[in-house]
Amino acid sequence: MNTTEMKKTKEDKSMLLPVLALRGLVVFPGMMLQFDVGRKKSILALSKAMEDDQLIFLVTQRDLSDNEPRQEQLYQTGVVARIKQLVRHPEDGVRLFVEGLYRAEMTDEMHDDPFLLAKVTPCKLIAYRKTQRGEALIRYTQNLFEEYLQNYSRIPPDIIVGVVQKKDCGELADYIASNIMFDFEKKQMILEEPSPVKRLNKLVDILKNEIQVLEIENQISEKAKEQIDQNQREYYLREQMKAIAYELGEDDNPQEEADTFRERIAKLCLPELQEKKLLKECDRLAKLPFGSHESSVILGYLETCLDLPWNTLSEESINLDKARKILDREHYGLKKVKERILEVLAVRKLAPEIKGQIICLVGPPGVGKTSIARSIAEALGRKYVRVSLGGVRDESDIVGHRKTYVGSMPGRIIAAMKQAGTRNPLLLLDEIDKLSHDFRGDPASALLEVLDAEQNMAFHDHYIDMPFDLSDVLFITTANDFSAIPEPLADRMDVITLGSYTHEEKFHIATKHLIPKQYKKHGITPKMVRIQPAAVHALIDGYTREAGVRNLERQIASLCRKCAAKLVEDPETRITITQKSLEPLLGPARFKNDDLHKTDEIGLVNGLAWTSVGGEILPIEVAVMEGTGKIELTGSLGDVMKESARTAISCIRTRASSLGIEHDFHTKYDIHIHAPEGAIPKDGPSAGTAMATAITSALCRVPVRHDVAMTGEITLLGRVLPIGGLKEKTMAAYRAGVKTVIIPSDNVPDLAEIDSVVKDSVTFLPVQKVDQVLEAALVRTPETKAGVVHNSTGVLPVPAGQPATTAPSIPQ
Ligand code: ADP
Repeated sequence: MNTTEMKKTKEDKSMLLPVLALRGLVVFPGMMLQFDVGRKKSILALSKAMEDDQLIFLVTQRDLSDNEPRQEQLYQTGVVARIKQLVRHPEDGVRLFVEGLYRAEMTDEMHDDPFLLAKVTPCKLIAYRKTQRGEALIRYTQNLFEEYLQNYSRIPPDIIVGVVQKKDCGELADYIASNIMFDFEKKQMILEEPSPVKRLNKLVDILKNEIQVLEIENQISEKAKEQIDQNQREYYLREQMKAIAYELGEDDNPQEEADTFRERIAKLCLPELQEKKLLKECDRLAKLPFGSHESSVILGYLETCLDLPWNTLSEESINLDKARKILDREHYGLKKVKERILEVLAVRKLAPEIKGQIICLVGPPGVGKTSIARSIAEALGRKYVRVSLGGVRDESDIVGHRKTYVGSMPGRIIAAMKQAGTRNPLLLLDEIDKLSHDFRGDPASALLEVLDAEQNMAFHDHYIDMPFDLSDVLFITTANDFSAIPEPLADRMDVITLGSYTHEEKFHIATKHLIPKQYKKHGITPKMVRIQPAAVHALIDGYTREAGVRNLERQIASLCRKCAAKLVEDPETRITITQKSLEPLLGPARFKNDDLHKTDEIGLVNGLAWTSVGGEILPIEVAVMEGTGKIELTGSLGDVMKESARTAISCIRTRASSLGIEHDFHTKYDIHIHAPEGAIPKDGPSAGTAMATAITSALCRVPVRHDVAMTGEITLLGRVLPIGGLKEKTMAAYRAGVKTVIIPSDNVPDLAEIDSVVKDSVTFLPVQKVDQVLEAALVRTPETKAGVVHNSTGVLPVPAGQPATTAPSIPQ
């Protein structure tokens, strides 16, 4: 091509220019750009341009993979650019620095070899005319671009200066398009648009889309970053933990740890099911990162399971002689109880395969139930563990929580087995009558599973979550009140009753067992401290009031502490505790011996009550006042006791004339029945005879013998019905110094149970009718036709020597 040809083309604004095909790059007018050129054809085109006036037509190829694109494989619209700088690289390449000048179209191809030379014509563009719409569009675009910049941090911020300066829609579109990254196809679309406003609108669309994509991209990368941060944090903490563990010499490798557990499991020779389950947990442990929450849960679980005595048994030897010796050595008295226990042991020796009968030791607190159980364990050579059931109201207390719960543990039974360390211990289920239940399930039914010989060979605790064999365990239960044990449980039990102790028994227990035991505990020898018998008697009477000896033991312990303090101060002293020295050491006596009132009183009767902690004297007071026939009952009386009081009144009405009581007393007088101590709730029908006697005494104005106590339910017709707890009640009467106890004749067989000491000092008077009670309890037979005069005390006195005209006759 020669220069003339070139001139000619310039006149019609067309030019013959070498063409440089761009891959994935669109150059806009006004854009300064630096890029590398490597293709041979392109380098030749550049050489041609450098020979002429350094102009070159830059146009984008449609297909990026095309290495030698022909004209038809190029877009038509491109940019005429000036080559500002050209640097040749040693390895054939060229670095080019160009400036885009104006849009142009390739109209004719002159030749394609050795490089592309084409006729290029400037594009016909629409000039921009400033309008409000245009201005608004420019501002909008500028704001949008700012937003784009916020999301895309890799663009230098000074670009914004150029954007703000542009006042022409077309120029702004070109400027932005040349400075941001998006598809070359879209850039080509912007380049080809002749209208400046349309061009900017197209750019706005692209920009909006880009912003959205960037936002999503940022969110994703933010999340990924957070995840990485979290992972890094955990990794860092774990490494730190390892370092700390290493310093402490506790660096455990989960794999090694799992292997150690596997070895321990193998040694245990477990049944297949249990072994499989534990090995599975080991596999899980090996896979978990050291120190993670889950791994510590599994670790705790495996430790607990492996500590259980799956196959460890202690050898049981039933030697009745040895058992008797141990029981006698540890316990004073309790003859019948010991005999019963030896019988049970004898049966076990003869028929060891018969399982399931469970001993239940019933009696008030402190009578030695727990310590008897401990002695049985010793006699049998079994390990002893006590499980306290008092107040257990949640089923999971017995059967545990699933190990997935936070802080979960096995239930009390499995925990006791772990503590025992053998599969055949003696488990003492203490206070089984104190089980309660609520919405969290019924612990009694869970316990049934434990005690049932049919089910307990595969006892299922939720925590260890596999069967455990309890069939070799010897269960002994204790209760204060057998009737409070849930029936299905009570059915399985063999009851052995331990009664209250007499004063003498307490004295012997104290001197033979409690005092030596406490001496030992406090490091005292009999040489250092001597407690005189009179002091022990005073201790029993003045400082304790109980069926058992628990408080007595506490008081002895308290004495020992005081003595120990003195001995430390002066090791040479010898202390003798007399009756008198109790007060300075323990404070004034809390109970007075004279439980009973000393004189015969009108309207005051000694009733007898029985509670789960022993028997007690229950005084009943009655006052009769002029009134309208109201009946007042006070002293926290339960419904049954109130009914019993009404029955007593009606019963007396049926006998009014024979007792010398006015037949209309129930309309003329108010009767007030009271049972001190008012704050303690009382119930039950057994105070019937006592109430009837007190009411009769008050109405007839005849005093009641103060040394008589009574118990018995009465009916309307005056029959006396049997009652429960006779042993404890009579013991209370004996303690209080009562001489005669009136009992229902149906209770006579129970007298066999009563302690001989009690029998020796108390006379029992069995009765069938209330009339016999009155005859025995009132100091004299009520006079018939006695005058009834009300006095201010409310008690009807006998008007001395005044035979009243209204007195009914006594049946002779
Ligand atoms: P319980 O279980 O019936 O409430 P414990 O067995 O706890 O009573 O007895 C309380 C204390 O009294 C224990 O120290 C126990 O050794 C002692 N004890 C009870 N009865 C006797 C007894 N007959 N002989 C010797 N010590 C006894």
